[in-house]
Amino acid sequence: MQTTFSENDEAFRQEVRTFLEENLTEDLREAGRKKTSVWQEPKSATAWQQLLYNKGWLVPDWPVEHGGTGWSLSQRYIFAQECARAETPGISPMGLRMCGPMLIGYGSEEQKSHYLPKILSGEHIWCQGYSEPGAGSDLASLSTRAVSDGDDYIVNGTKIWTSFAQHANMIFVLVRTSTEGRVQQGISFLLIDMSTPGIRVEPIINLEGSHELNQVFFDDVRVPKVNRVGKENDGWSVAKYLLQFERFSMSSVGLRSLLSRASRLAEQTSSGGVTLAEDSAFRKKLAQLEIDCLAMETSEQRVLAELNAGNSPGAVSSVLNAISAETLQRADELGIEVAAYYGLPLQLLSLDVGGPDPVGPEIALPLMPSYMNSRARTIAGGSGEIQRNIVAKAILEL
Ligand SMILES: Cc1cc2nc3c(=O)[nH]c(=O)nc-3n(C[C@H](O)[C@H](O)[C@H](O)COP(=O)(O)OP(=O)(O)OC[C@H]3O[C@@H](n4cnc5c(N)ncnc54)[C@H](O)[C@@H]3O)c2cc1C
Repeated sequence: MQTTFSENDEAFRQEVRTFLEENLTEDLREAGRKKTSVWQEPKSATAWQQLLYNKGWLVPDWPVEHGGTGWSLSQRYIFAQECARAETPGISPMGLRMCGPMLIGYGSEEQKSHYLPKILSGEHIWCQGYSEPGAGSDLASLSTRAVSDGDDYIVNGTKIWTSFAQHANMIFVLVRTSTEGRVQQGISFLLIDMSTPGIRVEPIINLEGSHELNQVFFDDVRVPKVNRVGKENDGWSVAKYLLQFERFSMSSVGLRSLLSRASRLAEQTSSGGVTLAEDSAFRKKLAQLEIDCLAMETSEQRVLAELNAGNSPGAVSSVLNAISAETLQRADELGIEVAAYYGLPLQLLSLDVGGPDPVGPEIALPLMPSYMNSRARTIAGGSGEIQRNIVAKAILEL
């Protein structure tokens, strides 16, 4: 891992810091401080996306010809670090980090020129329709059908756990176009406008009371065949390619910001004249998480180096996904330990920008919802067990 940065890198850090200081409005700062998940309410997410888009800093990972920044690895890392430090709001990853990179790799020229600019400008907000009630880990057993009808497909079936579908105007879905041969061979990848007649979205409320998840129903939904990515029945290759991007994120920067929040709160929490920050058991747990964070940073830099060389991250994304998810869950547990009784009140309204003052310090407010939301980390995007299966097959060749 790079622990020291060059003079140019430090100048770049200052440029990013100045940009954030000058452009993050008070509302955006509050939204970022109260973030409890990767998802953020659309108002703040869109405003933050627009700021980055106008500056040309929205998609550092994309190739320059499609809007990428052309930054070095260090610059990308510094940018992520500074955003985490400033607690910037979240942006929906489905378009910018999944559908966009997938289209760059697999889309036709027409699809790239139609969809990529709309992903960048925020005109299209995407959601992901992979999982079904009977197909999660065993995704290839999916049964949503697309039947050919002239230049269109007619889609019937349902998708579940569709994050933020209630805010999306586009969905990428895996559908069954053939029942011949191996199950993986009869799947196609479609891009569907959510306003097409026959699509219905039903909410699923999370453990912490927020609405992030949905079930999406398709009843005789007509989809033009030009909206298919890749060849008919070859959607599995596209889906796997996209998942490598989904499974990689720079989680260490989020972990650092969580640890910093827990440390700051621990300094304010005292018993018998001793602060929690001075307690040896607390310090030991914090130190272990800081060591794990360093290990995560090193692995993330390896993946970034692959991306920079124009390669897809490959199965190492699965190693990182499993380790990061579990480490972040331990950090969330530490957060709960520090929040103590301030974690008990259910304060959904206080989590809104401009909401009522919370019970206890604001810094403690997101810790319990974040802890509960974090239970899903070892399930979403492929469970911990499935990531380990991939590592066993693709890396260890077992
Ligand atoms: C918060 C959240 C957001 C999500 N967002 C989306 C989304 O936007 N779009 C989308 O398409 N999906 C989404 N998902 C769905 C997610 O991808 C699935 O939940 C996940 O793939 C697991 O599938 P499942 O829920 O059907 O569980 P199952 O596949 O039924 O798994 C149940 C348990 O069995 C274990 N298991 C299953 N098979 C094996 C095996 N072969 N070896 C070892 N253990 C195994 C699993 O690890 C798990 O512990 C989301 C899920 C969550 C929790």
